[in-house]
Amino acid sequence: MKVYRDPSSLIKKVREIKKQGYKIGLVPTMGFLHEGHMSLVRKARKDTDCVIVSIFVNPAQFGPGEDFKKYPRALKKDLVLCEKEGVDIIFAPESKKMYPRGYSTYVNVEKITDTLCGASRPGHFRGVSTVVAKFFNIITPDIAYFGRKDAQQAIVIKRMAEDLNMGVEIKVMPIVREKDGLAMSSRNVYLNRRERSEAQCIYKSLKSAKKLFNSGERDSKKIINKIKRVINSQPDTKIDYAAIVGTKDLRDIKKISGEALIAVAVKIGKTRLIDNIVLK
Ligand code: AMP
Repeated sequence: MKVYRDPSSLIKKVREIKKQGYKIGLVPTMGFLHEGHMSLVRKARKDTDCVIVSIFVNPAQFGPGEDFKKYPRALKKDLVLCEKEGVDIIFAPESKKMYPRGYSTYVNVEKITDTLCGASRPGHFRGVSTVVAKFFNIITPDIAYFGRKDAQQAIVIKRMAEDLNMGVEIKVMPIVREKDGLAMSSRNVYLNRRERSEAQCIYKSLKSAKKLFNSGERDSKKIINKIKRVINSQPDTKIDYAAIVGTKDLRDIKKISGEALIAVAVKIGKTRLIDNIVLK
């Protein structure tokens, strides 16, 4: 496994790999890796000949006052985990190399970024789509892997790849959860013991929503109210959003008929966590 820190040296290496006819799988991450990330790596290992994991805490996707500085980092441990899973290349660039002085180009996916996390984190998806576009240009992967945990992100990236004819297949993998149902996230380390215990309410609320749906309820308002009740039953929680939206256009659905995404964002203490579930 080799670690690249400089985009231009990785571009050269990728050209060699491609000449040999190898299929490249990319797993973009911000590091502090857990089983959620590793599930993507394993899938990439199965599907492709050369697995590249990017580890980069992307300043462009954090708003002012967000946790860019304190975002957890553990590169050494991440490298050990990746080596164990047979990753071929790590791309861990310095910020200066990704956004040198004078940097002025950004990718903006419209409409589907106005809602959910896009509404509460202005500029977030502009940062995400820009950095992922840069990774796609540097690495030219055949397949790139994303987690459904960040459902809106996966939809935005799919849209971008299609709209800009990037020629990369986007695969979206299921959410990996802790034993008590909490979706794995690098940000879970921010939670103190009480908050960690309260955080179980997020997945519980989604499960109770699914139960209501399975019992025949199709009125989104009623299902959302149920979610809110479960989450608000915990003292340190504050709902950022709880929404039922279309899985492609992310527009609010009033009466559920086809497929629908239930997405929630909740602040527990100071930590903002997201989760979702798909109704079919
Ligand atoms: P991050 O490092 O948080 O930017 O995540 C990198 C990739 O891993 C994204 O595509 C995430 O959706 C995915 N991911 C993060 N947590 C999970 C999880 N619990 N299950 C599945 N995928 C995840």
